[in-house]
Amino acid sequence: MITRGILVAAILCLPILGCSEPEATQTETPTETPNLAVDQNVASTPSGEEHGEWLLHGLSPGEQRFSPLDQISTSTIDRVGLAFEFNDFVVRGNTHRGAEATPLMDDGVLYFTGPWDVVYAIDARSGKEIWVFDPEVDGARARVTCCDVVNRGLAMQDDTLFVATTDGYLIALSKKSGDVVWKTDTFIERDSPHTITGAPRLAGDVIVIGNGGAEMGVRGYVSAFDLETGALVWRFFTVPGPGPDETVDITLARKTWSENMPWDHGGGGTVWDSMVYDEATDTIYVGVGNGGPWPAWKRGDAEIHDNLYLSSIVALDAETGLARWHYQTTPGDSWDYTATQHMILADIDWNGEPRQVIMQAPKNGFFYVLDRNSGELLSAEPFVPVSWASHVDMETGRPVLTENADYSEQTRLITPGPGGGHNWPPMAFSPLTGLVYIPTLEFSSKFTTVDDGEGYQPKNRNTKALSTIATSKNAELAKGLPPIVQNSHIVGWDPNTGKPKWKSPAQPLGSGGVLATAGKLVFAGSADGFLNVFQADTGKLVRAIDVGTAMIAAPISYELDGTQYIAVQAGAGGVGLRAFVGGSAPLKYVNSERLLVFRLDGTDVPKPPPVEKPAENEIPTGLPTDAETLALGEKKFNRYCVRCHLPRNIPSGYPNLWNMAPATDENFDDIVLNGAYAYAGMAGFGDVLTPEDALAMRAYIVEDRRRVQKGAKPGETEAH
Ligand code: CA
Repeated sequence: MITRGILVAAILCLPILGCSEPEATQTETPTETPNLAVDQNVASTPSGEEHGEWLLHGLSPGEQRFSPLDQISTSTIDRVGLAFEFNDFVVRGNTHRGAEATPLMDDGVLYFTGPWDVVYAIDARSGKEIWVFDPEVDGARARVTCCDVVNRGLAMQDDTLFVATTDGYLIALSKKSGDVVWKTDTFIERDSPHTITGAPRLAGDVIVIGNGGAEMGVRGYVSAFDLETGALVWRFFTVPGPGPDETVDITLARKTWSENMPWDHGGGGTVWDSMVYDEATDTIYVGVGNGGPWPAWKRGDAEIHDNLYLSSIVALDAETGLARWHYQTTPGDSWDYTATQHMILADIDWNGEPRQVIMQAPKNGFFYVLDRNSGELLSAEPFVPVSWASHVDMETGRPVLTENADYSEQTRLITPGPGGGHNWPPMAFSPLTGLVYIPTLEFSSKFTTVDDGEGYQPKNRNTKALSTIATSKNAELAKGLPPIVQNSHIVGWDPNTGKPKWKSPAQPLGSGGVLATAGKLVFAGSADGFLNVFQADTGKLVRAIDVGTAMIAAPISYELDGTQYIAVQAGAGGVGLRAFVGGSAPLKYVNSERLLVFRLDGTDVPKPPPVEKPAENEIPTGLPTDAETLALGEKKFNRYCVRCHLPRNIPSGYPNLWNMAPATDENFDDIVLNGAYAYAGMAGFGDVLTPEDALAMRAYIVEDRRRVQKGAKPGETEAH
C-alpha cells in the first residue's frame, strides 16, 4: 500500500524502487545599455543574442540563459499575454509525457523537441507548423528510462540540427526540410539499458552527447562525433569497466574503486544532462552522474572509495577527449547526488579580480564556484537545507560527512533526497545583477539499503537502495534534522557571498527552469501552472500568468520585427509524471504538451479542460482470491510495475490500473508479457514474468479494487 509520502517521492526521485541590445529594436521603455562584456571570453560562437535569436541551448556559449532583450520589463510586464500556442505534439497511446525542451529560434523559425524525441519546426511569429521529424524511436526503450521518455533539446550549426534519441541515436537533420543528413549509434552495446534525454552540445569540430541509465546499471560515458559525417572522434568513459583501461584517465580513476566492484552493475556516472563548451580553451565541461548501485558500500566492499569520476565536473580537451582537470562534488556518492546539473560559465569579479569561473548547483545541495581553467575551488555553500554533510572543507575541497549520511546499517532520513536540491531544470545568470537564479527543491527522503540477494537484473532497476520522500509521519526520524517540507523556490544566489540575495515564496515541489533578461526580470514556470515573473534584483513577484499546465522546462526569449517574445514548453512529466504533486496543475486541468509564446498586448491563455473523475469500470470476476496468489501478485507488481503505475487511485500521468478498462483486462497477458503496447512505451516483461505471475498480478489488482470499493484507505507499500 502506499502513502501520500511515497507518491510524492515519486515525483522527484527515482523513488521507491531502490526506489546587447537587439539591433534596431524599438523598445517601449528604454533602459541603459546592459553591460554584456562579462561573457566576452566565451562568446565567439554565434549564439544569436545580438540579433534577438536563440541559437544555442543555453543562449550564450557559457549557457547563462540571459537574454539581452528588454522590451518586456518591470514597466511593461502587466501587458504580457499569449501570442500563440502550439500543441500538436506527437502522443503515443494516451500518455502525455513531460515537455522539458529549450527551443531554439533562428531566422523566424522555432525548432524544438517533444516527447519521443520528435523534432518540430514552426513559424516563430504565428506558430504555424513548417515540418515535423519523428525518429520513430523504439517504444520498448521506455522500460529502461529512469524518468519518462523526455527530450531536453537540440543543437544547431549553420544548416544542420542535431537531436539525440531515447534509443541512443544521434541524428543530424537539415534545418530547412527536417530530412536526415546522417544518423549514428552512440551506444556501446545495443542491448544495454542506456538511454538519452539530454541535448547534444557543439564543441569546436565535434558534437558531444552523453546518456542516462545509472539506476538500471550502466557504464557512463560521453562521445564526440564529427559534425559533417557523424563518425566517432573520441569517447570519454566516466568510470572504469571490467576490461583493460581505455585511457590514462581511466587508469587514474581505477585506483579509486574497489577491486571487487561488480562491474555487471555498470558503475553509473552517466552524463545525462549538462555540458558546456569554452571556445577560448577548446574545453568541454561535462557533469557526471551518480553511482550504480547507489550505496558506495555495494560497490565492491564495505570501505568507501571515492569512485572517480562519479558526481564530478570534468574538464575535457575537446580535441582529444582527455581530462584537463576534475572536481568531485560528492566522493563515494551513495545518495544519487549527480553533478549533471546545469553548469554556467561566467567572468565575474572575485575579490576585486576578474575570474573565469564555472558554477553549478548539483543535487547534493552545495553551490560551487570553480576557476574553470584550473579547477580550483573558490566557493561551496549550501543553497538548500543539507543534512548529509556539515560543510565543504575548502583546503581539501571535500564535503565533511555527518553521521546522518550513512544508511548502511539503518534507514536514515537525509536532506536533500535523491531528487537533489536542484535537478535538471536550468538556472540563469544575469550579468546585470551578478546573481544566479536557481530553481530549488527542498525535501528529505528516507534511504534504506536493499539486501535482496539478487544479482544484476537486466532491464530493471539495480540501485540496491530504496528511497521514499519524507512526510510528517517521519517526524521521529527527523529529530535534529531540517524540517520536513516539500517545497520549491526560485533563489537569487550571490556567488560572491555564497548566500541567497532573495528567495521566492514556497511553490509546489518541482519548479521549472529559469530565464533572466535585460528587462531586469526572471521568468520561471511552476508546477501549479503559473508562469512566474520576478524582479531580478529583489525577487519581487511582478506577475503570475495562469496557464493551467505545469511547467518544468526553461523559457527562452527572442525578437522579431521589433517585438520581444517569451516562449516556454508546458506539460508535467519526467519523474513527476508518476504522481502529480499536491497543488500541481494536472490535478485540476488535463495535462498535455504545449508550447506557449507570449508578447506585449497578447491574449489570455486558454486553460485546458478540467480533470473529471473517470467512470468506474466494472471489476472483473472469476480471478483467484487465495492469499498465496495475491501475495505473489503484489510482490511482482511492486517489483516491476509500480515504477510507473501507482496502486489505487493516486493521481498520475500513467494509466490507472485500479480502473482498468475491460479490454485491458482481457488483453492483460498480451500487454504485460508480449508487449502489445510497446509502441506507446509499455514494453513486454515476458523475460521476467510468467503467465502465472501475470494472473497473480491481475488477481491482486482486482482484489485490491474490491477493498477500495469497500472503503479501504491507502496504506503503505514498500516496493523492492
Ligand atoms: Ca540518478
